[in-house]
Amino acid sequence: MGNYLKIFGMSKIVGIDLGTTNSLVATVDSGIPFVIADANGQRLTPSVVHFAAANSEAIVGHEANRVRLVKPAETVYSVKRFMGRRGAEISEEEKSVTFPVKADNAGAVTIPIHGKNYSPEEISAEILKKLKCDAENYFGEAVTRAVITVPAYFNDAQRNATKRAGELAGFTVERIVNEPTAAALAYGLDKLKEKSKIAVYDLGGGTFDLSILELNEGVFQVLSTNGNTRLGGDDLDRKIVERLKSLVVEAAGNSTSQLLHSSTLQARIREAAESAKIKLSTETEVEIALPFLTPDFSFSYKLTRTELENLTREIILRTRQHCLRALADAKLEARDLDQIILVGGQTRMPLVRKFVGELFGCAEFEEVRGGLRMGTEFHKAGGPQLNTSQNPDEAVALGAAIQAEILSGGFKNVLLLDVTPLSLGIETFGGLMNVLIPRNSTIPVKAGELFTTAMDAQREMLIHVLQGERERAKDNWTLGKFTLQFESAPRGVPRVGVQFEIDANGILHVLARDTKTGKEKIVEMKSAVDVDDSAVQKMVEESVEHAFDDLAARRWIEAKLKAQETLVATKNALTSCADEIEKDYAKKISAAARVVETALATESSDGSGDLNQLKASVLALDEITKPLADLLMDKAMEAMLRKRGLIQ
Ligand code: AMP
Repeated sequence: MGNYLKIFGMSKIVGIDLGTTNSLVATVDSGIPFVIADANGQRLTPSVVHFAAANSEAIVGHEANRVRLVKPAETVYSVKRFMGRRGAEISEEEKSVTFPVKADNAGAVTIPIHGKNYSPEEISAEILKKLKCDAENYFGEAVTRAVITVPAYFNDAQRNATKRAGELAGFTVERIVNEPTAAALAYGLDKLKEKSKIAVYDLGGGTFDLSILELNEGVFQVLSTNGNTRLGGDDLDRKIVERLKSLVVEAAGNSTSQLLHSSTLQARIREAAESAKIKLSTETEVEIALPFLTPDFSFSYKLTRTELENLTREIILRTRQHCLRALADAKLEARDLDQIILVGGQTRMPLVRKFVGELFGCAEFEEVRGGLRMGTEFHKAGGPQLNTSQNPDEAVALGAAIQAEILSGGFKNVLLLDVTPLSLGIETFGGLMNVLIPRNSTIPVKAGELFTTAMDAQREMLIHVLQGERERAKDNWTLGKFTLQFESAPRGVPRVGVQFEIDANGILHVLARDTKTGKEKIVEMKSAVDVDDSAVQKMVEESVEHAFDDLAARRWIEAKLKAQETLVATKNALTSCADEIEKDYAKKISAAARVVETALATESSDGSGDLNQLKASVLALDEITKPLADLLMDKAMEAMLRKRGLIQ
């Protein structure tokens, strides 16, 4: 390995799965991807960070996890849930962690420990530093480049925060890759027969994603993604904790309920709950023992798999709507899929496997074990196959390592394409959303359009960048705003090119250029949208719900703009041709213009009006002004010929 690196003079790029619960670092050696173990032989690093004292070095991983029980207020877990999010987006339930979380409305989330306010990126950077160190110990040299994975549904702010965490840890982040895409690579699905379609069902500790990918001529394309960054194994744990707490109060009396608020006890119960849940994936019942919960009370309870399933079924069923939405977005039905792959520790739970099997109509739930039969056809008659041949905890990290190897030129003929979860565009005159990059476009992607001014002597254009699925700008989310200045000119003359580029990391760069002077501004949409994924879901649902109203609003606004334009042009023409036209004709034109004005006045406070009346009146005005338009054209032609000296 060392020689290989020296010959090519390139440093190794590692693949990192920065998970909610566990994080892993992986690499590819001699064409084989594998997870790098730490000094103790552990391949999974719990995403847990402990700060023993002010200014002391962070303790990360298993050691921090052990301390978590006794020092819960100084030990941070599931920090991924806070990455790139604003205070206002954090629910009370999410704040109910055993460490302090400062989530002020507009401000960023911080975690105050020993008098220092840590950002989620700084905490994540500690995890990444530990993985970097493990990789350096393995290679015996500095490792400075990494590919890091994120849930497919992470927005720009969350992706940027992840990238920043990598940089804080001393990495150059070569690429941010969607977790399901990485998982598909790890499953070796690039070796499938051509035109295969795959669904990746990823249920981890804190996030859920369903992605539908298509393999076409050796190229992976994500057809659609849907998910929720606040749905995962932690939610199941919480359900069990609630149940255990109520059992404790039942057994030891109401006086204990106050005690149960202590963060130490909460952490103990949470750990017992998670460990019982994991055991129940292979056993049908477990004994949960919590000795000396209070000095004179020990608790024990036999939890069965059936009770666990009854407690948590509702959470697992919540993934259903995301699966259906992803299928609908990809314009596919479950039976069109060839494989469903399961990723994330929580998919080890038998109920999850059963649910996924049933939802996608998988063939007798027959799982493909021991790897895929490469290039062979699958039994499609009974629906797609449920593939669990990979270790669901490691698949994402292995895929990231494969992507890293592709970037280093090690693997060829595989290209990864991801898609945008929501449409991106700018606000145009009249308050409409002008989409530049539609939802589910494959990234990286670049798209541009030319815009002009709506008013005379306009000296600047406001570029209002929007994300969302609604027709009216005000119903979408603002990603950012900036202005481009240019020389004063009559309306419709300036030409401003606006280009959107989403890079391979899913980050949006907006460029606006005055084509006359070449003056331009490029803005990276760093702050992105201050909304969470359930809001993304809501946006998509609302766009469907309001599709009819939205379309009517767009039609009205477009007709209104055209009517206003026609009125201005008519008035100008009447003034400039006043001497050449009959008075009666001028009166008729003015009357037709008044009819248009009356139709425009039908606009109500909700921004809609009588569209038919408006269209008919504009048509009538167009019709009646035809001779006037011809006259104007003749005058313009004459002026031009005279200017060139062709006539006197
Ligand atoms: P991940 O984010 O992929 O590391 O997944 C972590 C989640 O998977 C946590 O909620 C774990 O409790 C859960 N998990 C890990 N192993 C199992 C298992 N064998 N059965 C059920 N849940 C598990």
